[in-house]
Amino acid sequence: HNEEAAAKAAAAVADTGAPTIFDKIIAKEIPSDIVYEDENVLAFRDINPQAPVHVLVIPKLRDGLTTLGKAEPRHVEVLGQLLHASKIVAEKEGILDGFRVVINNGAEACQSVYHLHLHVLGGRQLKWPPG
Ligand code: IMP
Repeated sequence: HNEEAAAKAAAAVADTGAPTIFDKIIAKEIPSDIVYEDENVLAFRDINPQAPVHVLVIPKLRDGLTTLGKAEPRHVEVLGQLLHASKIVAEKEGILDGFRVVINNGAEACQSVYHLHLHVLGGRQLKWPPG
């Protein structure tokens, strides 16, 4: 049951509020392949792509959004910006006719980085339901 073991390992990360690798990506201290950027949002290619297009869309300011589950009314504007940026990414990548936006929330959903991020996936026939 390698898949199960891998899922459990990925899930063994806790929401501690500690800084994440995404802070370094935002600060450009470590390189990333940026697809879209504006004042509030950064979109870059996932290092371990699960589809021909696999881009992560993140808020530049985490402001408590380690997970979607921490969302508060003050986050509504940035949440909208993230979804809109996902559409811009899909458009830029030429997958507007078929793409998926995913948020893994918490250990049981295999979230591994505790800085809110939307996965934009496409470029192949996607399956449903996801695992
Ligand atoms: P999660 O499992 O939903 O938390 O997604 C985290 C994603 O971040 C995974 O798909 C990882 O492949 C990706 N990731 C982790 N570190 C990096 C990095 O340094 N650059 C780009 N993507 C990363």
